[in-house]
Amino acid sequence: MKEFVLASGNSHKADEFSELFDPEIILVKAAPEKLEVVEDGLSFQENAFKKAEGYYKKLKCPIVSDDSGLEVEALPGELGIHSARFGGEDLSSEEQVELLLEKLKEEENRKAYFVCVLCFYINPEEVYFFEGRSHGHISSSVQGSGGFGYDPVFIPENLDGKTSFAENPDWKMKNSHRSKACKMASQFFGR
Ligand code: IMP
Repeated sequence: MKEFVLASGNSHKADEFSELFDPEIILVKAAPEKLEVVEDGLSFQENAFKKAEGYYKKLKCPIVSDDSGLEVEALPGELGIHSARFGGEDLSSEEQVELLLEKLKEEENRKAYFVCVLCFYINPEEVYFFEGRSHGHISSSVQGSGGFGYDPVFIPENLDGKTSFAENPDWKMKNSHRSKACKMASQFFGR
């Protein structure tokens, strides 16, 4: 079993991770304090690395970090690595979802996918990345109240083509971009 401290202050993510990893393979512990890491990388990988490295320098122990976001085909460059800041720093998740629906109001191309990149930073000479994706489309209205972030407007293509992540959090837990990245990491570290 390998133990990692989670480089994140997002309690939703910490909850999802604790369910996604088999603790006999990867045990994830919450960080004792939240560090402010500037996420100015140009890719999910770069940002995940910056977070992991920042926590490693402070805590000097193996770190797991994640960077994730929603790529919306009709809005190139607007979400993606900027998903958390879409519409400005001060918008709530609900306001970001409303803004996304508004921007796509007249849009026929509603294709989107979530990305999750995990960075396992064991020490400066041993760093591993795993990436998971979920493909789907953006609904025309808010659907469901489970999950977090953009879950209420994301319809994954492998469910039934009409149910959102927020309407079926159990399915999301087993099949999401985050779940896929965690499964790959578990296979690697459990080998
Ligand atoms: P970060 O990874 O903490 O930088 O933030 C990623 C952004 O994408 C946040 O706005 C999240 O709400 C959103 N996001 C990431 N993963 C998910 C997900 O599984 N469901 C809904 N929104 C997500």
